[in-house]
Amino acid sequence: MKWLTILNPASSGRRTEKRIDYIKDNLSKISEKMIVTTHQGHAKEIAQEAKDYDGIAVAGGDGTIFEVINGMDIKRQVIGILPVGTANCLAREFKMNNLKDGIKAIKGSHTEKIDILHLKFTDSDDNQTQAYATITLGLGYPTNVAEFANQKLKFMGNFCYPVAALIIAFKNVSKSYSIMLNGNQPEKKTLNGLIINNSRFAGNFTLFPDAKIKDGRFEVMETNANFFSQTLHNLSVFSGTYFYNPANQFSSNLMEIITDEPHNLMVDGEIFENITKLSIEMLPRSLTCHTNGV
Ligand SMILES: [Mg+2]
Repeated sequence: MKWLTILNPASSGRRTEKRIDYIKDNLSKISEKMIVTTHQGHAKEIAQEAKDYDGIAVAGGDGTIFEVINGMDIKRQVIGILPVGTANCLAREFKMNNLKDGIKAIKGSHTEKIDILHLKFTDSDDNQTQAYATITLGLGYPTNVAEFANQKLKFMGNFCYPVAALIIAFKNVSKSYSIMLNGNQPEKKTLNGLIINNSRFAGNFTLFPDAKIKDGRFEVMETNANFFSQTLHNLSVFSGTYFYNPANQFSSNLMEIITDEPHNLMVDGEIFENITKLSIEMLPRSLTCHTNGV
């Protein structure tokens, strides 16, 4: 088995840069080569050129994994996760909470096939994009939280998402959406936020405690909350007590969304601007990950 390591030194507010030598040393016997990314989109470009490798070890966060799975051949290649990002949602699905757990999984032979989301979206200039995602998509409130956290608060480490969630709750704006589930008639909804999740986690939040990453379904949360109810909801999720939930929740495997005005779309922490149309299709058990089997 031939491994390539792709390391994003900018992950976790550039803390990963200091861990390059440690990762290199610990994977020297198993990974033939390590490439350190230099710009956004670079991890995807490296993965596209890595067809000679059987496995790609990703040292970064969920945003780096997002780039890699969109460049690699998911039918043939496998990934290993070195969870050195801010939230590390995918690694947490498999109780890989630190670098040691990630290294152990790559050295071991246990693999699991997980569900991924296949997205197609169109922007206001009619450009169409396709992408795979492993964790989360958001429109409205969650997207504004991710954007603000990424741009202004990464220095706070683990606290960047909850702090952003509180600040952005002040500026909640409702917008109109047409939502179609499984090809049924579209339903018009006025919402200030929409979250679609493959994982239990979104950022540091355990937003969908019952979600499973191998059940062929994704979870949907629609919110139309004011500052007070949004903040109560954030607190209830962040504290893990779920004492307050004003949101409409359901699961699906095929969904289309059309917005009246262009929206920024967040996919696994990355932002795509001015999106007017989006479809999400579940691809059950379509990505193979090295895990520790726990
Ligand atoms: Mg699921």
